[in-house]
Amino acid sequence: MPRRCSVCDHAARDEIDRALISGEPFRNIAERFAGLTAASIHRHRHGHLTAAVRHAREAEDVQRGATLLDQVRALHARTLRLLAKAEAEDDAPTALRALREARAGLELLAKLLGELDTAPTVTVSLGTEWASLRTAILRALEPFPDARSAVAQAIARSADAS
Ligand SMILES: [Zn+2]
Repeated sequence: MPRRCSVCDHAARDEIDRALISGEPFRNIAERFAGLTAASIHRHRHGHLTAAVRHAREAEDVQRGATLLDQVRALHARTLRLLAKAEAEDDAPTALRALREARAGLELLAKLLGELDTAPTVTVSLGTEWASLRTAILRALEPFPDARSAVAQAIARSADAS
């Protein structure tokens, strides 16, 4: 029967792990916490800590990514509001600028969502966002048939490419 790890089972395991992560010498840690030897800490450090740290770091990355994603989404929503405003005011130059911004925002969103494939619920909503953006773009361009058909073709091309 495998022996239990005295560090994993230790009441102060989180604290010990933090000490290990901060680079405190095994001997020091063994002296600070009851019932541990430098050898058991060494075993734990190499056998068990790595996986725990990796999991923590992955969770952190997802967290950071989600925050970034929220910011991009907020920015994207502002762009869409500007686009709607320009559309309502028949302001073609502003509408086109907003379209370019919206496209860049969408690309960034897609990239972020691709990197965050651990969050499938977020991925699902891109389809909806894209569909409503595509509708908004084409509607905004109705007064400008040339631009509208150019954009529609570009969208069709990028859909083929992906
Ligand atoms: Zn352990």
